[in-house]
Order: sequence, then structure tokens, then C-alpha cells
Amino acid sequence: MPPLAAGLYIVATPIGNLGDISARALAVLAGASLIACEDTRVTGKLLHHFGIATRMTPYHDHNADRMRPGIIARALVDPVALVSDAGTPLISDPGCKLVAEARAAGVNVVAVPGPSAAIAALSIAGLPTDRFLFAGFLPAKAGARAAAIAELAAVPATLVFYEAGPRLAATLAALHDGLGDRPAAVGRELTKRHEELVDGPLSALAARWADSPPKGELVIIVGPPLAAPPPAATDIDSALATALETMRVKDAARHVADAMGLHKSSVYARALALKNGQ
Ligand code: SAM
Repeated sequence: MPPLAAGLYIVATPIGNLGDISARALAVLAGASLIACEDTRVTGKLLHHFGIATRMTPYHDHNADRMRPGIIARALVDPVALVSDAGTPLISDPGCKLVAEARAAGVNVVAVPGPSAAIAALSIAGLPTDRFLFAGFLPAKAGARAAAIAELAAVPATLVFYEAGPRLAATLAALHDGLGDRPAAVGRELTKRHEELVDGPLSALAARWADSPPKGELVIIVGPPLAAPPPAATDIDSALATALETMRVKDAARHVADAMGLHKSSVYARALALKNGQ
């Protein structure tokens, strides 16, 4: 491979199975002049496994502000890679400010895509993927968590969360409370030896782990809002009967149709029949 051009390479690494690293990721990690990583011990093991000796520098939440200018200056003249402990950098991982500031400084920022737990779980959950919202980790405290879930309740999309084992049951119960009993799935230890994907309604998933928190890393996928069932004919009749006490047939039909989200013509026909005693 020809020498890498100067720039900041955002390199995805495996979320468990080392076989998932891409040929390009290996070439970029081997060809970079420096690898910025969350934890040099974690990335060191990965590099050692693949026989790569590129120098590493730590870049994490506690030193990011101090490290950013130097990494950006280096990426203007040399190839620099950014990796996280696992998966795609910036996805619930450090790197967002680094990428933004590097781009503003004129650095060539290059994606080297690959594994991400959110996409891996979505790809096997069997829930709608045409629209999804990645919500990352919910707040740990119950009140803040409920508020965050309430904000998402009306979003017409599949929702994707990251979670840790000890909090899984409480989070699933809070999702059930806030979103209703939607179809959902929990992906655990994906691509690893004990990987599993369990699906079912949120209530059943919450009950399953209520007394025995699972070990390992988890993704929760929740299907989009459930369509409201159509109102029962008896409910429509009773709303019409009430409306007809004070309104003309046409107005009563419009009032009930608007309130119940129904077509005016069919409600009008029913209002007329009720008025005529049928
Ligand atoms: N950047 C990573 C990515 O692209 O997936 C995510 C980093 S985030 C700090 C770590 C969280 O991702 C874990 O707590 C877990 O929720 C999820 N995760 C990572 N690896 C996983 C795996 N193999 N199976 C299930 N979830 C995983």
C-alpha cells in the first residue's frame, strides 16, 4: 500500500470478534504515524495481535482538551488514526470535538468504517430499520431516565440504546412504563463467544432479567410506537349519542370523527342511522 496521506483517520475496531477488523483498518493502523486511543492497554493488545508497532497516545474524556491541539497539528502533516476501545469512535465514545476541530483546521478527516454494536444489533433484531434513532446510554437516575424516555415516546422510529448488565432490568421496566409494551430486543455480547439476541415485548424482557442481571455488554432495540387500535363500534355509537343530544347530525358526525380520528362520511352514515332509531 502506498504511504498514507496526512489526515485524521477514524478507524472502527472489533466489538468482540477480532476477525471483524477490516483489511483497510489494519493498513491504516500500520501506516499511521500515531494512533490516538482511549486506553493504550486495550488498543495495545489489538495492535500486538496483528503485529502492528505504531506509536499510541491516549485520547480520552480526561485529557481530550489538552491533547486535541497537538493531535490536530500532527494530522495536518502526518497520518494520524483515532480508535476507541471497541467499535466505531464517536458513537458513545470520544472524538466528536476532535473531528469538528480538525475539520475546522483544514485536516483531511477520513472514515475507515467497520463494527458498531448499535448497527450489529439492529441487523439481527428483526425490528424496523427504515428509520431508527440512536439514543446511546440513558441517564442512570430514575427521574432523569424517565424524562429522557418521555422525550422519545412520540418519535416514529425504532430506538437504540446502550446499557450495562446491572441496570438492564430497571431500564427495560422504565422503557415499558414510558413507551408501552412495544416489541423489543436485547443483544448481548454480540460477536463474542456467549452472544445472544433475545426478543419479546418490553414487559417480558424486563421480567426475564428482573432478578438476575446479565453479564456483558448490551444493546436494547425498541420498535416504533404501536399504532392505536381503531375505536370499537360501541364507543363510536356512545360518543355519537351524546353529541346528538345537543348537535345536528352533520355537526355531531364531524365532532366525533375529529375526536376519534375517523372518516367523516362513515361516521355521518352511522349518526344518521342512530338518529333514525336504527
Ligand atoms: N463505539 C462503540 C460502538 O460503535 O458500538 C460503543 C462504545 S460504548 C462506550 C460501549 C457500549 O456499547 C457497551 O456498554 C454496550 O452497550 C455496547 N456494546 C459494545 N460492544 C458490544 C457487544 N459486543 N455486544 C453488545 N453491546 C455492545
